[in-house]
Amino acid sequence: MFDTRLLGRRPGAMQSEQRTVAAPARMGLDLIAIAAGAPIELDLRLESVVEGVLVTGTVNAEAAGECSRCLGPLTQHVELYLTELFAYPGSITASTSEEDEVPRIEDDALNLEQVLVDTLGLELPLRPLCREDCAGLCLECGIDLAIAEPGHGHDRMDPRWAALAAKFGDPAADQPDDQASQDLQTEEN
Ligand SMILES: [Zn+2]
Repeated sequence: MFDTRLLGRRPGAMQSEQRTVAAPARMGLDLIAIAAGAPIELDLRLESVVEGVLVTGTVNAEAAGECSRCLGPLTQHVELYLTELFAYPGSITASTSEEDEVPRIEDDALNLEQVLVDTLGLELPLRPLCREDCAGLCLECGIDLAIAEPGHGHDRMDPRWAALAAKFGDPAADQPDDQASQDLQTEEN
């Protein structure tokens, strides 16, 4: 929340804001987010323009989550660059746009939370990785391939897969009526 009264409404007036705030809630995506209460460093410039207040600057924070391949914990530094107009109520911008397109100044204050949530949603990776070349988990035994022995693999096929492979390896087995007609023949004989 920023109070815009100090800034005043004279276009061109400027105010810089350097603050560290605590995240009011978990902000981010399912697999990676800034935790509630985690510090968020704001280095912003508020500039009065005819239609409202233009906020520009950087936001720095640490996001935490889990690797989408190996499910190990990970942290990622997040740096966001903001350029956001907050419209004065009653301005032309406010009357020609929706509130979810252009945020509003309400009671002489602008609330950055929704802008941060939206920007994080675009900037954070949908599938975060603990490192670029994370090998993930072995599909057969689930071991983290990063700590498995070199060339980790499974020579023996799981009996269930072996049964499937045998079934689908035999073209005749694909025809569901086959077994039934054989049974019928056996009865007739
Ligand atoms: Zn990983």
